[in-house]
Amino acid sequence: MNKKILVTPRTFGKADPVPMEMLREAGCEVITNPYGRLLTEEEVSELIQDVDGIIVGLDPLNASVLSKAKRLKAISKYGVGVNNIDLDYATQRGIQVANTPGANSLAVAELVIGLMFAVSRRICVSDRNIREGKWQQYPGLQVKGKVMGLIGTGQIGRHTGELARGLGMDVICYDLYPNQEWAASIGARYVPLQEIITGADFISIHVPLTDDTYHLISREELDQMKSSAVIINTARGGIVDEQALSEALQEGKIAGAGLDVFESEPLTDSKLLELDNVVLTSHIGAHTRESVENMGRWAAANLLQILRGETPEFAVNQLTDGGDGNAS
Ligand code: NAD
Repeated sequence: MNKKILVTPRTFGKADPVPMEMLREAGCEVITNPYGRLLTEEEVSELIQDVDGIIVGLDPLNASVLSKAKRLKAISKYGVGVNNIDLDYATQRGIQVANTPGANSLAVAELVIGLMFAVSRRICVSDRNIREGKWQQYPGLQVKGKVMGLIGTGQIGRHTGELARGLGMDVICYDLYPNQEWAASIGARYVPLQEIITGADFISIHVPLTDDTYHLISREELDQMKSSAVIINTARGGIVDEQALSEALQEGKIAGAGLDVFESEPLTDSKLLELDNVVLTSHIGAHTRESVENMGRWAAANLLQILRGETPEFAVNQLTDGGDGNAS
């Protein structure tokens, strides 16, 4: 295969040599990101001109950038979200787009469990105290027998449900598209969102941020939760009203929160930073060695499948007539 490939994500093939080997063994000439950071529109436009395929992270691939690519046939997203790619334009041009759904979902689900224990056993507070010379015990909460309420049962929500069941928790869940077969297989059940709000001990959020889910958890919902409830958000900031959450935590309306995502990142100026009953992580959900490996290998495999003329395992767009194939 005599193809030229642009690779933009900095972590692609860094810790794991396999994805680069896959491309080179297939005979591809690989150009890597020369800037070591997210590329600008101008930079991608320049680099993309004569490549056949691109493995892309969050760099902009809008219509204007894609119009500069004369030979592009394959866009392989290193990750899941494709909001940086103009899918309509790519489809019209006959450019196949693929992504790596599920590559990092177990990593996020494991972080949920970590945050749940960190909040319920006050692990971070205890750690900070010892470092400050204080030796103090706190009554924690046991998780076995408690109710885990999942909002969203896609890839990450399902993994979280399975891990929670493994810990002896009851699992109730809510999703626009319930997966009854999965729920039955682990002994979980779908309920209306309201039942999660009022009945769950731990509430973990796994829906995308959309117009419909913006501030899905606001003051009204927080007011109805158990005073012992803990919220975990590893999905996106903005799904929870952060101001209302800070106040609810401060006033003891709920017991605690574990947050990996924020309305504005990095989190710098926030009431949350002053509260002891919240554990904060810096959007690390997807970052395990294993998930980075998965993303790299799956992205390379998708790209090679497309360039061989096959439909990739994780196609994002559906090509009908192959598009016009030419840049305009
Ligand atoms: P997914 O697409 O597999 O699942 C999302 C689920 O949400 C689907 O089952 C869908 O039916 C449901 N849903 C969508 N809108 C809904 C609504 N309005 N009401 C109820 N249900 C709704 O996604 P996933 O891979 O499980 O990821 C879930 C979230 O986690 C995404 O927002 C993603 O951006 C985020 N995420 C965070 C990290 C991190 O590093 N913290 C990493 C990966 C993904």
